[in-house]
Formats: sequence, structure tokens, C-alpha cells
Amino acid sequence: MINIAIVGSGPSGCYIADMLSKKVADAQVDIFDRLPTPFGLVRAGVAPDHQGTKNIVRQFERTFERDNVRFVGNVNIGQDLSYEELKASYDVVALTIGALCDRKLGIPGEELTGVYGSGEFVAWYNGHPDKADLAPNLNSRGIAIIGNGNVALDIARVLAKSSAEMDSSDITAAAQQSIAASPVQDIYLIGRRGPLEASFTNAELSEFGELERCVALVDPAQLPDSLPEGLDPKAARTIEKNLDTLRSYTSNDADSKPVRLHLMFCASPLEILGDNGKVSSLRLEKNQVVDGRAQPTGETFELEVQTVIPAIGYRSEAIDGMPFDQQRGIIQNQDGVVEPGVYTAGWCKRGPQGVIPANRSDSMAVAKQIIADLEANPPAGERGGYGTIDSLLQQRGVKQVSFEQWQVINQAEVARAENGKPREKFNRIDEMLALLD
Ligand code: NAP
Repeated sequence: MINIAIVGSGPSGCYIADMLSKKVADAQVDIFDRLPTPFGLVRAGVAPDHQGTKNIVRQFERTFERDNVRFVGNVNIGQDLSYEELKASYDVVALTIGALCDRKLGIPGEELTGVYGSGEFVAWYNGHPDKADLAPNLNSRGIAIIGNGNVALDIARVLAKSSAEMDSSDITAAAQQSIAASPVQDIYLIGRRGPLEASFTNAELSEFGELERCVALVDPAQLPDSLPEGLDPKAARTIEKNLDTLRSYTSNDADSKPVRLHLMFCASPLEILGDNGKVSSLRLEKNQVVDGRAQPTGETFELEVQTVIPAIGYRSEAIDGMPFDQQRGIIQNQDGVVEPGVYTAGWCKRGPQGVIPANRSDSMAVAKQIIADLEANPPAGERGGYGTIDSLLQQRGVKQVSFEQWQVINQAEVARAENGKPREKFNRIDEMLALLD
């Protein structure tokens, strides 16, 4: 038997598991996750109101249901088992742990109450156990979101939607109530470069044209009349679509709805100012974009906000013993190869870029490399695989969660949902484990 361990059950891990469990003869694929729940960012990262994107789990479920695939949930590699123990027990280890740590702006005031990285904020409203107790301060008339990517738009939309609009989502009830109770009037979405350089996509940008209680606003002076010469035609089409949408927002009436989303460009945060340890305003500097880069102009301004959410990207977190590139915040690798027998794919390999299909291609390429290496150097079949790991976990009193047990949790979440929501997530591990006793 060829024993394969995958660490992390998000899309990248599921895609590798799918291919290896089908293509490697006599393979046993064990997928570890530190949570009792599988699917990684599909469950805790994809926006709760984008249920269509989450349909991909049906495909992943079929992988987990295969006879030679095992979910080993609630097992933390680096804590319950070491990286060395895993390597010693498996012929192949694939690290697909994603990128969960928020990048910092590195400006004064980031430690104030009212500043939340996009990763922790999204984890909170999506019911990730790590952030169940975040309790972000949304007693704010003004909220600033820094960044011009799709994560920034997701957060802005979740804050901007009415509670009724979120009833078809799987946002946690606590987050839904907290957002509904917020007196927010102005949400500022701030890009350090211009609309031409924004990385958000048009489908997400267009959603702000249709919200019940929020109107999107853009200062027409921030939009160029035409595109620069020499753009790649595909990029030009994408940018043109975004510009059309942004232009359509310039004529919106600011007083037409109770919440305003201000799409602002060419400004970088300089300092988050506080009052009694809480955010009271954000000081920014206007930029101009020269050769695609943001250059400060020296002109500053302030926004009165009580909450600031930097949505500026993520880093992976190193597991003890694993080769790690601290500067880039990724696992050290050469085209997905970390060291003999160890591979990586997804955001922890390349950085936090790309939607689920991009991670699929990446995982496929790494799985092909694994298959080629197994063919070139067939394992001697001496490693203990799950048998060794199971004994260690039992000795250490670690309560593993199987795929069948996850389905018990899943059904309980669906059963307790109210108001037409698809599920009401458990956001505490002990609550989930109590269902399995
Ligand atoms: P992203 O697209 O890379 O956006 C990050 C944003 O942060 C950029 O606008 C970047 O500006 C800005 N930024 C970085 N450092 C900054 C700083 N120091 N000060 C001010 N701004 C700064 O990343 P993301 O939004 O985190 O998304 C990650 C990936 O997930 C993307 O591939 C995204 O498309 C995908 N995703 C997709 C969806 C969807 O399809 N609905 C939803 C969520 C996420 P610069 O461009 O100037 O660097």
C-alpha cells in the first residue's frame, strides 16, 4: 500500500486527494484537518451569501466517500502530531494548509480596538472556531475597509446587506444580529491604486447595484475617461467592465438609502487614530499612480470611522520543522516540492492568490508531480501509515473526527437553521464534539 497524507482539507487538499486516490494504484489517502469540519475556505472563507460557490463541496464529498480516502478531523499537525512523525509514517505528505494569518498594514494604531484583519473578520462571520469570540466592535457609523480585492468587496457586501438579504446565507446568527444592530451609515472601500489596478472582479462589483439598504457611490473625478494604450486585450475588457459599473454608480443619490458604500481610490492609510483605546478615525494620504505604482502626494485627509478592516492579503503559518519562507509567508518549495516525499499546493505554496479553479489547476500539477516521483522511486512499503498515527493519537487522547461523524455535525447544523438559512454553523469545537458522544 502507498500511504499518502494530506494536511488541510480545503479545495487544494481535496483536489490532490481526488486525483491520487483515483490514479495511484493501491493508494490510501488520509486527509488531516485541525478542525472537526472539512472543506477549509469553502466553509470558512467563501462569502456566506455566495452559496453557489459552496456547491463544490458535493464534488469533494464524493472524494471523501471513496473507500481509499479517510478524513482525520480534529487533529492538529504541529500540536497533536509532529511534522516529523507524519513524514516518518507516510510515503507522501502533501501540505495544503492555506494562508490564514492576516498581513499587517504596519502603521500606527493597528493595535486599537476596532481594527480587524479581513481573515479574522471573515472567520468570525463564517463561524470559524478560531474567531468565535472576536466580537468585533460594529457600534460604528463609519467603517473603513482597506484593499481593492474580492475579499474587501465580500466584507463590504456582508456589512451592507440587510438582515433579510442574509437570510439565504449561512452567516452565523450572532454575526447577522451584530451587523443588523450596527448603526453603520458609511462604508469606505479604499484602494491604494486606481480603478484600473483594482483586483476585484465585475460580478462582485456589480452586486452593489442591487442592494436593499445600501447605495454605492463613486466620485466621477476618480475614473479615467479612457484606457491607457497597450493593455492586454483580456485585461482591457475586464477593466472596461469595471469602469462601466463604477460609472453607473457615479449618478447614484447618496440619500436614497440608509447606508452608503464609498468606493475610493488612490489613498493609503497612514495612521489609525484612537480615543480611549478605540478607533476614532483613519488618516490617509492621497496617491497618484505612476507606471502602475502608488506614489504618495503628501496630501492627507481623515475619515471618521470607528472600525477599520484591512483586507490586504494573508500569510501561511509555519508548522514546526517545516521549511518555511518567512519573508513571503509561504512554505519553501520548488514548483510544489518541499523536500523528498513532501509537497505543497494552493495558497501556502504560491501565496494567497486565485479562486477555487486556479487552485484546482495548481493541485493537479502537484498531483502529477507526485505520481511521476512515485513511479520513478516506488516506495518500499515500510511506513506504518494511519495505523501508526492512530496509535499515537490514541496514546495522546486526541479525539479524531471521521467523515461519517462530520456528517452528523453537518446534519445537526442543517436541522437547527432558522429563517430559511441553509445551515446554522456550530462555531465551537466542544459543541461539535458533544454531538458525537
Ligand atoms: P487581492 O486580490 O490580492 O487584493 C488585495 C488588495 O490589498 C489589493 O487591492 C492590494 O493593492 C491591497 N493592498 C495590499 N497591501 C496593501 C497596503 N499595504 N495598503 C493598502 N492596500 C494594500 O487579495 P484578496 O482580496 O485577499 O483575495 C485573495 C484571492 O481570493 C484573490 O485571488 C481573490 O480573487 C480571491 N477571492 C475571490 C472571491 C470571489 O471570486 N468572489 C472572493 C474572495 C476572494 P495592490 O493591488 O495595490 O497591491
